[in-house]
Amino acid sequence: MSKFSRTSWKGYLIDHHWPREDFIPLDRLSLAEYEDQLRRAGIDHLVVYCKDHWGSCYYPTVLGARHPSLTIDFVGEMGEMLRRIGAEFTAYYSVGFDEHAARGHPEWVARDPSGDMLLHPRPITRPRWHRLCLETGYLDFALEHMAEILSRYDPDSVFLDILGHPPGTFFGSYLCYCDSCRAVFLDRYGSGLPETSEGLRERAYDVEDFRAHLDLKWYSAIRDVIRQARPGAAITINASAHFRKPMRDLVDHHFTEPFWGHWRSSIFMRGIGRDKFPQGTGQVPSEVYDPSPHDLYRSFSAKHWAQGIRPLVYSPSQRPDGKLDTAEIDGMGAAYRDGDVLREYLENRSSVPCVGILYHERTCVELPDRPYGEVRPASENVIEFDKNKPDNTHRRLVGAAIVLAGRTQVPVDVLPEEDIDLPVLSRYPVLLIPGASRIDEAEAKVISHYVEDGGSLVLSCDTGLRNRDGSLRDDFVLAASMGIRFAGIDDRYTNNRYGSYVARGRHPMWRGLPGTDLPLPAPRYRIEATGAEVLARHIEPCAAMDEDTFVSWWSPAPGRSTKQPLITCNQIGRGRVVYFAANPFIDSITWLRRGFENLFDWLLDPPPLRVQTHVPGSLGTTFWSRNGRDEIVIHLVNLAVEKLEGEVLPIRGARIAVSHKFGRVRSAHVVHPAEKELRGKNLARIQSFPVPPIDVHSVVVLEMA
Ligand SMILES: [Zn+2]
Repeated sequence: MSKFSRTSWKGYLIDHHWPREDFIPLDRLSLAEYEDQLRRAGIDHLVVYCKDHWGSCYYPTVLGARHPSLTIDFVGEMGEMLRRIGAEFTAYYSVGFDEHAARGHPEWVARDPSGDMLLHPRPITRPRWHRLCLETGYLDFALEHMAEILSRYDPDSVFLDILGHPPGTFFGSYLCYCDSCRAVFLDRYGSGLPETSEGLRERAYDVEDFRAHLDLKWYSAIRDVIRQARPGAAITINASAHFRKPMRDLVDHHFTEPFWGHWRSSIFMRGIGRDKFPQGTGQVPSEVYDPSPHDLYRSFSAKHWAQGIRPLVYSPSQRPDGKLDTAEIDGMGAAYRDGDVLREYLENRSSVPCVGILYHERTCVELPDRPYGEVRPASENVIEFDKNKPDNTHRRLVGAAIVLAGRTQVPVDVLPEEDIDLPVLSRYPVLLIPGASRIDEAEAKVISHYVEDGGSLVLSCDTGLRNRDGSLRDDFVLAASMGIRFAGIDDRYTNNRYGSYVARGRHPMWRGLPGTDLPLPAPRYRIEATGAEVLARHIEPCAAMDEDTFVSWWSPAPGRSTKQPLITCNQIGRGRVVYFAANPFIDSITWLRRGFENLFDWLLDPPPLRVQTHVPGSLGTTFWSRNGRDEIVIHLVNLAVEKLEGEVLPIRGARIAVSHKFGRVRSAHVVHPAEKELRGKNLARIQSFPVPPIDVHSVVVLEMA
């Protein structure tokens, strides 16, 4: 396999979705200019378009449609040039959009339930490309087409775009109702493909399985053709980390656009794409004709490097005449120069285990009873092929958990469900399980052992409360460890923004929080404590909102206090289980930010590693141990650079706290942006090191004794 897909830390993609129009003359296209600019920017990876969304090919194809303005073999010459400059050559192929094929073969186009052709989502000023269905003759065409490309060229890697149904993405939220797809569904599940939102919810498991089946079938066919032609070419799919595990197992490296924003997506992909050299991308919020400050590019690449993700900028920096516009290339070059310094710290390292967030794929199926007050279920978006990124509830909760845990500035990893394995879990002193409703008995047994052995578990709502089909169990599968019993769901307040207010007991979790009744969203899970300590009880809102009930412009205020437990803690063996009977994994409720910080301080007592800062929402921190060396690498990224559109307000006053339990630091150095030794203080429970002001990003290395 090509070494590049694991070592190229400075990627670039120039977007070539060029329509076949006269205003795209490409008459000033110059390979010499490309070579000069790419060398100048120091990139080590370029994605080269073989076929784009219009179906335009950039080489002399026999099967497809060469872009009419192209007079050279762009793919071939670029491939040779990339070899010359020692950069990775990735062949890009648009699978799901090919307007040339769609217009020539309407029978290859995916259909909506009424039989109309599916077009790219509506309300945006973008071309409405048709969506192609790979259950038609289009698959054979695409396979032949790829065989043609791979027989002519020898790329280091292949990038497949717009393939299948990755959840939570713009392009994955569709179903095709063509005769072939309907027949596959009928054959596999014994009934017709549901055509309504409610029908899709009722058959949610079958529909999920159907999509996963098609994705795997199509990708496997394409992969076989590529493997046969070029066994050494690494293969990836756009949004690979969003696919289900059988697909993820078949990609050679991960590639995911930042569907949750750069920082959060990178944390997710670092966990899900572990050991598969993930790559992340983004269009830096910039236009080549209205360039952004270079620091925005530096912030973009730093966010990825900090997560161990290989960054790739995509850009419209080729003009229609083929000439390159250099503004974006300059910015990227400035950013990528930092990468040359940092490369030695980016490889051969492992994240420091501390807080794990469980991503439980089996839970990622729509629930029939809308238990989180969903107004618009994801299945409606699927039917309407909406422009949104419909996500299932569990993934949304995982996304919020990433934000909340990340703000606490302790090490955070996302753990896929195959990590429900005692040796893996036991490395994490705290495990968050955000609403993983379909945890089963076997998984519950491992998780219970993890707690008894000293782990701290934080659970919410219906974690382990559902059968495979989404129906409710009689009790939590982890009830014994939780020290509570399930007594029903209270969904009276789902129209209220806040369904519960928190009556607090005395506990370190509430330290420094505002002296009011803090809210949580509806619904509330009714529970009875059978052994757990109650940390907070439920205060009812004064009214349930509906069309006739008005209290104020805001969510109805706190009303009657109750004895109903809202947050509990059970000590079991050497560990603890904290349960929230209303969803705390929501990033729009402000108090939860400090609440999670307090919770981790209490459970970790103290955290092994932490960065103390007065601006936790503006600082992104990751912690790595260098393999085979007693060294910790800490990345500190100023996330406010993006919020401030490229303006840099240095973050001052941050301190690195290393607990004595974790180890003793022999020396601490800033290695980027400028070498500096840090003089620490030895306190009762921690060593504390001041960090110089963080402009865009800083990297600190701790040498452990
Ligand atoms: Zn179809």
